[in-house]
Amino acid sequence: MPVAKRDYYEVLGVQRNAAEQELKGAYRKLALKYHPDRNPNDKDAEEKFKEASEAYGVLSDAEKRRAYDAYGHAGVGSAAQQGFNPDTFADFADIFGDFFGFGDLFGGGGGARRRTRAQRGDDVRYDLEISFEDSIRGLEADIALPKLENCASCHGTGAESEDGWTTCSTCRGRGEVFYQQGFLSIRKSCGTCGGRGKLLRRPCKSCKGEGVTQVTKKLKVKIPAGVDTGMKMRLQNEGQPGANGGPPGDLYVFLSVKPHPIFERKEYDLHCVVPVNVAQAALGTEIDVLTFDGLETIKVPDGIQPGETMRLRGKGVPFVNGGGQGDLIVHIEVRTPKKLSREQKRLFEQLRDTLPAENEPEEKSLLDKLKDYLA
Ligand SMILES: [Zn+2]
Ligand SMILES: [Zn+2]
Repeated sequence: MPVAKRDYYEVLGVQRNAAEQELKGAYRKLALKYHPDRNPNDKDAEEKFKEASEAYGVLSDAEKRRAYDAYGHAGVGSAAQQGFNPDTFADFADIFGDFFGFGDLFGGGGGARRRTRAQRGDDVRYDLEISFEDSIRGLEADIALPKLENCASCHGTGAESEDGWTTCSTCRGRGEVFYQQGFLSIRKSCGTCGGRGKLLRRPCKSCKGEGVTQVTKKLKVKIPAGVDTGMKMRLQNEGQPGANGGPPGDLYVFLSVKPHPIFERKEYDLHCVVPVNVAQAALGTEIDVLTFDGLETIKVPDGIQPGETMRLRGKGVPFVNGGGQGDLIVHIEVRTPKKLSREQKRLFEQLRDTLPAENEPEEKSLLDKLKDYLA
């Protein structure tokens, strides 16, 4: 059963001589109230939203309004003929833009606002392997970074000249198109122009219209003393360029440190192994230990046991944030000679015969433990 169409002015609740601003205000109020996103599964609200949109679509268009004023509904055709014309929705964006993101209202997606919104460039990762020495002393590393830069010839526009663009006829420059789904007009990015709203007529010769060029950017990166594998350094604004005037991204230099043949790092301490022979271990000795400050002579006390450590304070890794450094831990390794001359063998035999059990603290304590156990 056909229902009589309500008067558009009545729908919007305005006088027939209402000014454009007044129409806008009335429509905004109704659309916000009845928008389907806010009234899910409410048929009545949907109808009201549709009705208000249709009314505003006609009355906001001066020509259509004149026709409507003169001939009523017959003057502007049926709602189906009329559909939702994109112009209404452009105004719709205009109306609600200040309120909340137009995209949000329509459930996201790339919209006119998104298309032109300044976008920050991507962050970039660069892996840098450095020597152990450099990690201890710090360095200024030269890195060659392949990256995109806005084309210098066209300043990133991709066009040979100012008039190198032509407005996309599919979307009439909006970058998005509308199609009807049920009573709702759905927006999507224009496929013809890829959402840019314009087509390249004369592409920039340098970048072939890309707007960006691949360059190798040489950078000096100051790496502080004390860095370790897994640490990263952030170089602000050295990432990919932003779009539509947005700021560039950042560059992250991920560090990895090559292993060292002598030193092993644990936190900020360095560890190394220094061998001494049996006689040196028994009698004590002086040995030269390699540090990053040069050779360091240390006194090994007599009777040192295998695996005992000696600590050289402040000879470790500098704290990466400053304020001191770790220690160097020297692990004493007592080595037993493998090949003995006749003379050495004789001396060891003499030593064995003269070495009483109490000279061997480890064995003594083991013996004590055994005695305790048996007692
Ligand atoms: Zn260019
Ligand atoms: Zn287009």
